[in-house]
Amino acid sequence: MRQEIREFLEENKIFYLENEPLASYTTIKIGGPCDLLVFPKEKEVLVKLLEFLENTGTPFYILGGGSNLLVADEGFKGVVISLKRLKGIEFLNEEKDEVVLKVKAGTGVNKLISLCLKKGFSGMEFLAGVPATIGGTVRMNAGAFGRSISQVVKKVLLYHRGDLVYCEVSEEDWSYRRFKKEGVILEAELKLEKSEKEVVKRKVLEVLNKRRLTQPISKSTFGSVFKNPPCYYAGQLIEACGLKGYKVGGAEISKKHANFIVNLGRAKAKEVLELMKLAKTNVWEKFRVKLEPEVKFLGIKDGEIF
Ligand SMILES: Cc1cc2nc3c(=O)[nH]c(=O)nc-3n(C[C@H](O)[C@H](O)[C@H](O)COP(=O)(O)OP(=O)(O)OC[C@H]3O[C@@H](n4cnc5c(N)ncnc54)[C@H](O)[C@@H]3O)c2cc1C
Repeated sequence: MRQEIREFLEENKIFYLENEPLASYTTIKIGGPCDLLVFPKEKEVLVKLLEFLENTGTPFYILGGGSNLLVADEGFKGVVISLKRLKGIEFLNEEKDEVVLKVKAGTGVNKLISLCLKKGFSGMEFLAGVPATIGGTVRMNAGAFGRSISQVVKKVLLYHRGDLVYCEVSEEDWSYRRFKKEGVILEAELKLEKSEKEVVKRKVLEVLNKRRLTQPISKSTFGSVFKNPPCYYAGQLIEACGLKGYKVGGAEISKKHANFIVNLGRAKAKEVLELMKLAKTNVWEKFRVKLEPEVKFLGIKDGEIF
């Protein structure tokens, strides 16, 4: 099978790496190799690749910025599709007060925010400092400081089991940290407000400052470990259990924010999972509140996730 996939990739001029360790493609810097790591650059090629993998029954996984992902130490038996090269921003419509941009899934949030700073577009400031791709933020309905990506996304180009559809998005399509429509996100149309460059800059700096003060942003993490349960903050519950700074091997519950796990250098996925289990059990025993992981898992067996 691998040979057949290799031939397909070569015929379609898709760059790939074999047995590539995934650690350096995730922000927490953990994870073993996948069989093939592939980097499609155009959406037509990506669609062809997805169809090929589905038709041949090949397991695959979509990777954005790897900023909310824990990959198994043993890696993943299958194809990982990195969307990092599927990038670009196009102006679709510009009016007096607003602008509509078409953004390819692999475009970095930082790239989009740089453009917003240059042009004075407002709406994305809350994600300043987040090392994600636009596709990943849509899939996860990324949010912070009372805002979420759902507030700016108008349309999404989705591939799902052979169908490629440009769909309008409405409120019902979103829930907390989740875009409900299934499939691979290829592009998103975002509606942003026109504002003053100085105002956008001030908001971005405020967000970066808040993050710097409250989150371990210079360390290797995958952002929030658990979703906030209704009426609570996961970080406060974990902190109240006295777990800030608790370590298992090379993984530590951040001393700065208890809902972050830091890779101190050579952490293993199984050490991170052990810390997650400990936090979850302690919070349940003390508060009878159930914590649900926000982070996504790749190659980790169901039995190891709780
Ligand atoms: C320092 C730091 C700060 C963070 N701050 C925030 C924050 O303020 N708010 C917040 O919500 N999150 C935050 N996060 C978490 C993370 O950045 C978000 O969840 C983000 O949306 C993940 O995007 P990504 O491109 O990195 O996706 P990945 O981590 O690569 O993938 C996440 C999931 O989305 C899927 N996926 C990715 N791209 C696509 C696509 N194109 N189509 C379909 N599925 C896809 C993957 O298969 C996976 O299941 C933070 C993380 C870090 C490291």
